[in-house]
Amino acid sequence: MAPTDSATEERTPTGGTTPPLIRFDRVVKRFGGVTVLDELDFSVAAGRNVTLIGPSGSGKTTILRLLMTLIRPDGGSITVDGDNLTHMVRRGKLVPADEKHVRPIRKKIGMVFQQFNLFPNMRVLRNLTEAPVRVLGMDRDEAEIRARELLEMVGLADKADAHCAHLSGGQQQRVAIARALAMRPKVLLLDEVTSALDPELVAGVLDLLRDIAVSGDVTLVCVTHEMGFARDVSDQVLMFDAGRVVESGPPEKIFSDPDHQRTRDFLRAVR
Ligand code: ADP
Repeated sequence: MAPTDSATEERTPTGGTTPPLIRFDRVVKRFGGVTVLDELDFSVAAGRNVTLIGPSGSGKTTILRLLMTLIRPDGGSITVDGDNLTHMVRRGKLVPADEKHVRPIRKKIGMVFQQFNLFPNMRVLRNLTEAPVRVLGMDRDEAEIRARELLEMVGLADKADAHCAHLSGGQQQRVAIARALAMRPKVLLLDEVTSALDPELVAGVLDLLRDIAVSGDVTLVCVTHEMGFARDVSDQVLMFDAGRVVESGPPEKIFSDPDHQRTRDFLRAVR
């Protein structure tokens, strides 16, 4: 029998396998003349939270930006939940995906940024209802009910009518997480979401993300320098260097007994 990559393919009760939720297939990304991702292959199974670690400049954020289609690859293909994000078939030929093709796939993906990126001139509740109403066509009352549930979950039920600018950084980041979840994404991308926060506000945001991770409602793809958090929430850790996966495995293996010297050096430097 062919070996199965247990990190990317899940056995179903009937003995079949489900395809990965995210798949990068020989993805190339260049900026100017510099190759940042060099035929990158990796995949993430549904429900298995992944953390990308590695030195600054190794390509981690580029991966998240490709998944959000904020940038396009120069080669290879990316699939999300079985849909091809980079290519489509037109007149029997595989061609680069256009905006119309990408739009419904992108709805499956949410992202939380370092700098929160809330709509600053809107109240908190409106930040959570705007995209579900405009993008998903959700009824406004329904969107508000859902938004209030999410604010409750992130511990900010009493801030629904506050202006975002009046919230602390930690509160703004919790609103940003709730806003991303309001779109009911299958994948939530988290890019260094605590690095702009004052140290005393970090724990609250990480605790919230731990709860989301165990809920299993959404698959997390995290880029973080918080190794304790990575260890807690991840099912799989991918160590990057120079746009390639140096090694990958469960956190207990990567953090305690990595195979590669590059990983050991990196972990020593960040701890
Ligand atoms: P990481 O998230 O691992 O720190 P990034 O994905 O942000 O790494 O960046 C990888 C490399 O790509 C870096 O050398 C960075 O300078 C370069 N890079 C990223 N975005 C751009 C861009 N828009 N233009 C030029 N170079 C970029």
